Amino acid sequence: MTFTVAIVGRPNVGKSTLFNRLVGRRLAIVHDMPGVTRDRREGAATLLGMEFQVIDTAGFEDAHDDSIEARMRHQTDTAVASADVVLMLIDARAGVTPLDAHFAEYLRKQKTPVILVANKCEGKAGAPGMYESYGLGLGEPVPFSAEHGEGLADLFDALRPFA
Ligand code: GDP
Ligand code: MG
Repeated sequence: MTFTVAIVGRPNVGKSTLFNRLVGRRLAIVHDMPGVTRDRREGAATLLGMEFQVIDTAGFEDAHDDSIEARMRHQTDTAVASADVVLMLIDARAGVTPLDAHFAEYLRKQKTPVILVANKCEGKAGAPGMYESYGLGLGEPVPFSAEHGEGLADLFDALRPFA
């Protein structure tokens, strides 16, 4: 019995870096959907001994046509719907952007519970963005650094209720 975690957020916030950290070399499946340049990746994750399935996504822009953006959005929809919990990442160094707000609004309308992760929080440069992210209405952000592996224990605590 395991649970599934979807990693979502706008491009460049560190989703794939987090995915790689959680999955390491145990990457099981690469979904290369025809026509989608950025594939959805899924793998078996381990976080401080806790095991779960994790889905990486490409992030989306709003789109109402058949464009790559529309298909990326479809990919995010599918990942969110099939997950037990969503990790929404922001780049705390960049602060909250309009696209982050758009993602948060979208996620608040979905049934899947969301954990907000303020990535790139190593050092002090992420602190203002982390506090700003309370305004997204997704609850308390988990300060994190996917690149440096900081915040793993806090992420563990946030995910534990879903295990
Ligand atoms: P994605 O588009 O959301 O999948 O983002 P990526 O995982 O591809 O990362 C985008 C960029 O952010 C890359 O240059 C990463 O090295 C960088 N990055 C990811 N995590 C961190 C972090 O914790 N701190 C910093 N400073 N950079 C990070
Ligand atoms: Mg990525």
